[in-house]
Amino acid sequence: MSEHFDLVVIGGGSGGMATARRAASYGKKVALIERGRLGGTCVNIGCVPKKVMWHAAEFASHAAHAADYGFATGVPEHDWTKLVDNRETYIQRLNGIYARNLDKDAVEFVAGDARFAGERRIAVGERELEADHVVIATGGKPHWPDVPGAALGTDSDGFFQWRERPNSVAIVGSGYIACELAGVLNGLGADVKLLLRKEHVLKNFDAMLGDTLIERMREAGIDVQMNRQTAELSEAGEQVQVDFEDGDSITVDKLIWAIGRLPNTDNLDLESLGLETAANGTIPVDEWQDTAIDGVHALGDVTGQAELTPVAIAAGRRLSDRLFGGQPDRRLDYHNIPTVVFTHPPIGSVGLSEADARAEYGDAAVKIYTSHYVALYHGVLEHKVPSDMKLVCVGDDEKVVGAHVIGDGADEMLQGFGVAVKMGATKADFDNTVAIHPTSAEEFVTMT
Ligand SMILES: Cc1cc2nc3c(=O)[nH]c(=O)nc-3n(C[C@H](O)[C@H](O)[C@H](O)COP(=O)(O)OP(=O)(O)OC[C@H]3O[C@@H](n4cnc5c(N)ncnc54)[C@H](O)[C@@H]3O)c2cc1C
Repeated sequence: MSEHFDLVVIGGGSGGMATARRAASYGKKVALIERGRLGGTCVNIGCVPKKVMWHAAEFASHAAHAADYGFATGVPEHDWTKLVDNRETYIQRLNGIYARNLDKDAVEFVAGDARFAGERRIAVGERELEADHVVIATGGKPHWPDVPGAALGTDSDGFFQWRERPNSVAIVGSGYIACELAGVLNGLGADVKLLLRKEHVLKNFDAMLGDTLIERMREAGIDVQMNRQTAELSEAGEQVQVDFEDGDSITVDKLIWAIGRLPNTDNLDLESLGLETAANGTIPVDEWQDTAIDGVHALGDVTGQAELTPVAIAAGRRLSDRLFGGQPDRRLDYHNIPTVVFTHPPIGSVGLSEADARAEYGDAAVKIYTSHYVALYHGVLEHKVPSDMKLVCVGDDEKVVGAHVIGDGADEMLQGFGVAVKMGATKADFDNTVAIHPTSAEEFVTMT
């Protein structure tokens, strides 16, 4: 016999947790189904462990600078296993907090693999749950290429399992995950080859960011190889041999596929409720996160919309506000979502790239401001790494429609400027804001 709920959420990641807890806060009867660890990709195999690793690589770079700051020290030995143990202990603590939060909010947690057994009916293990509303928040997984021997490589999930740092790593991909992992591994002492299919990285960002990042990665010792089409992987003793389509080959300890992500929709039996996915497997939704089936909603990575944790959380909370909180107009506005790429140096970006602004408004309406500067931190260093910034403005009033930065501190800089861009600030508003000195962020309000 099926049990009835106001809401059943499939997936206990960023979006699912947020949706379930917000609905429960309105006194609704809610169940959340998760087949793995609570917290989903972000907490267990995404943002959180990645940022810990990023901090470790930043630490190594600061240690390398210490001598120029008068410390009689070089880069200390690094214990990868200890870092991974400390990271996993922290994540287990987060898993516990997530479980307690569900308990506290009286959300029923159901462990298991969920699939549809009809319209708004979900089968999980021996149970069948029925609901007025179902939210699909099943996230995504790494995409693997169809080349012989591909299984000799691993993916970002596998990277987070490593108990030791390999000496040499090839990373295939040009997106933010490929670039971030390249930075971490290089910073922590591995010999890294970043294999690009074409000649760019971060293709969805302003071109200045990707072009500058390639320069910075190369200066830092990452071997960025362009136009590399992987044909086959094979065993070479303990190592992996990578053969390219042009006949060339390399040998590395490990290879990571970071060529994109696919939505988790193949395991849901969506046919049983007549819900069709897009060609790439994502679930089509309208601006209210509604699917084509009444009472069935989807959000987060499974929809392919701005695949970021705060996006999934915001979409989920707003959906519950609308369905259960008496706020019929609540929905997420997907414009001007700020984002950071945790490379070395980091990147911050909000709004339109220069190319997108030119395509949308025409060349004549677009005015670009740039700044190329050396942050004060590098002033006393022998090897100085410059930073780059860009403001994309449009119209007579020079409304700022894009702000982009690559350089130290970019990760903490963009949140506030994201507010300004979202509010429709103009270049004059930026200029009228008194600078904070000496910082790197002040460059954003002093560009001429
Ligand atoms: C390496 C990496 C780094 C990242 N870094 C960042 C970052 O710095 N900042 C950022 O904002 N985003 C980052 N992301 C993206 C971020 O993790 C995702 O956008 C976010 O987790 C999406 O949330 P979600 O709720 O849609 O899905 P998820 O968090 O993936 O949660 C989906 C959950 O559903 C469960 N599930 C799937 N199918 C079923 C089923 N049939 N039954 C039961 N449970 C099921 C899964 O086990 C999973 O726990 C990163 C991702 C990766 C891979």
